[in-house]
Amino acid sequence: MKRDITLRYSNDLPGIPLQREIEKFTLADRKALGCRFGEPCDPRQLIKFHDVTKILETYASYNTHYGRSVQGEFEQRWSGVTLHINNGNYIIMINPDHSLSRRTFTIAHEFGHLVFNHQTVTITTQKSLETRYSDEQELEAHSYGLALLLPYAPLLQIVRQGASVSSIANHYGISMDAVAMRLKLTGLWKMCIP
Ligand SMILES: [Zn+2]
Repeated sequence: MKRDITLRYSNDLPGIPLQREIEKFTLADRKALGCRFGEPCDPRQLIKFHDVTKILETYASYNTHYGRSVQGEFEQRWSGVTLHINNGNYIIMINPDHSLSRRTFTIAHEFGHLVFNHQTVTITTQKSLETRYSDEQELEAHSYGLALLLPYAPLLQIVRQGASVSSIANHYGISMDAVAMRLKLTGLWKMCIP
């Protein structure tokens, strides 16, 4: 991020109602994790607050979990899933072929499904039965993940001070695509320098 960016505590919230509501959840979660105003936040730490026994996101963690190599078994377009294993316990599985910044966002997204207690729905397609979340739930989980990683109030200050999308992405350890999505969802996109 540009060296001359200065942040002061503020409590601005997004004007868009859904984003505003979700921001309140993520601000509470960031506070519980000890992430200070405008600081990057590692969503892996949320494991402390949920019944998630482990997060698999590297080949080393998958190989240990399954006791064999799972190299090459992941489809590129698959990002991640939260699996209920037993007695209310979950495992979060993330595509180990994806970059660290992408995995970070997928993990934050998966915790969004847990925070909002989303239940999957089963959809009958021509070929098979598909279990998935509704589009509305996906938007909520997406918005949660983005808000957790890129809180609105500091983002507003950063954008006003002319930071670029790439510098914001670098500072927060997430992809430029994720930054762009967050700016669009909160209405800040038009203020930003690409
Ligand atoms: Zn999802």
